[in-house]
Amino acid sequence: MLKTAVITDKAYCKHFAGRAHPERPERIAAMIEMAESIRRPAMQMFGPRPATPEEIAFCHSPDYIATVERTSTMNRFDFDSDTHTSRDSYATAMLSAGGAITAAEAVLDGAADNAFAIVRPPGHHALPNRAMGFCFFNNVAIAAEWLIRRRNLKRVLIVDWDVHHGNGTQDIFYESPEVLYFSMHQYPHYPGTGSLHEMGYGAGLGFNVNATMKAEWGDAEYLTVCDRLLEPIARQFKPEFILISSGFDGHFRDPLASMNLTEDGFAAMTRRVKRLAAELCGGKLAATLEGGYDLEGLAGSGRAVLDELGREADEPIAPPLDGARAMPMLERAGQGVGRFWNLG
Ligand SMILES: [Zn+2]
Repeated sequence: MLKTAVITDKAYCKHFAGRAHPERPERIAAMIEMAESIRRPAMQMFGPRPATPEEIAFCHSPDYIATVERTSTMNRFDFDSDTHTSRDSYATAMLSAGGAITAAEAVLDGAADNAFAIVRPPGHHALPNRAMGFCFFNNVAIAAEWLIRRRNLKRVLIVDWDVHHGNGTQDIFYESPEVLYFSMHQYPHYPGTGSLHEMGYGAGLGFNVNATMKAEWGDAEYLTVCDRLLEPIARQFKPEFILISSGFDGHFRDPLASMNLTEDGFAAMTRRVKRLAAELCGGKLAATLEGGYDLEGLAGSGRAVLDELGREADEPIAPPLDGARAMPMLERAGQGVGRFWNLG
């Protein structure tokens, strides 16, 4: 069994985005209840530390950080039509980014083989100067920068399987060859970015890979994209650490999107990424929660990921079901990013 660190805290329930808001405290309560019900000695649950303002500033401007901090003196502030704060939102967002860092640190320092940060608010839509899509600070991007700036890593791979495109993460690393951002997301869909043509810029050209998944696709198509696009690119990029932006809103029960992923699909994707980590970077892998708005789909998928993280990496991988529906998209992706990576 591999040793998995679960980084979480009931304090993540404190941020309140408004009545009937889908990104609600119950999400964390459901995930903690699920994690606590898993009784295996190799899984260790512990709390995060808050990120420091300096760490947040890896990815966000000082003015914007101050703007978010000021919301802690207000009952409510609306950044946009679906991104609202309460008095505890700033502190919770600092703890959320800190959770992603704590997970990366636990793995890098060998306290665990891999880790899952169960945090909120989510992060991948957060831009350097702007909150959006329920996100304030870009947790996973901040963890990636922490690995690079504080621990001198040269190449970090971010795999984002949240159903929405992580426009914030893409934006932050668009000109960077140090962080390869790989996203599979429903397209077209919120937030509107994430086309196959967005491949990075300047020194970062080729280091941004978007796989545009059509509504109604499910396990077979996601696993086909993992095998035919993620795997060859990851092998050539040779990451020193893999971070997962693990949203569960691609689950078939989710109310905010139209994909058909199941718990088995999330487990199978985890197994593939875990095997890549074992092959390429000594298994160093840390997942961080992003979206997921059906409590049953969220907790069930979270359990599937945690169970898979605990298994040895050399277990066999079953070939995906018939993912032929994804082939035309993969062909077009190959015409783009295939200029930078050998896709076989
Ligand atoms: Zn999402």
